[in-house]
Amino acid sequence: MPFAHDTAVELRAAVALVNSAEPPETLATVADLDAFFREHGYTGRHDRTAEELAQVRALRPRLRELLLADRDTAARLVNELLAGVPVRPRLVRHSGEDWHVHATADDAPLSTRIVVETAMAMVDVVREDEHSRLAVCADPDCQGLVLDLSRNRSRRYCSTACTNRNAQAALRARRAG
Ligand SMILES: [Zn+2]
Ligand SMILES: [Zn+2]
Repeated sequence: MPFAHDTAVELRAAVALVNSAEPPETLATVADLDAFFREHGYTGRHDRTAEELAQVRALRPRLRELLLADRDTAARLVNELLAGVPVRPRLVRHSGEDWHVHATADDAPLSTRIVVETAMAMVDVVREDEHSRLAVCADPDCQGLVLDLSRNRSRRYCSTACTNRNAQAALRARRAG
């Protein structure tokens, strides 16, 4: 794994959030947001309101831009994002997770915490110059993001659906050839 555990967790959550905007939209309801919150191990404030849902959904284009940015652009975007929110980094240990960083107050709005956590994760990506870990899905019809944390950098597709569809297409092409 090229990153610290909490950085990897935050990048996975950010990529999943951005990809939820790809058709078919998978972050449409408060229940969808609830599932996202639980799946990615968030703690702290969670309002379960339409407003919170709208705020989180509105982050997706900005996070997509940040995750796909080249190194210098990413550094500028991280600084802009962190300048706009109250950041208070501290080490915490909870819910069976070893020491990791929380950079905002636990009662800050969920959308604020997602922005800050993604920006903090991108601090590591910029410092380690690991932007090649983030890319657009290799499926020609898919704009989903791929986060490749594998040792041999073998991941090309955003989802099992895209992996399977392209494997089947390659098989058909081989048989036809
Ligand atoms: Zn935590
Ligand atoms: Zn895809």
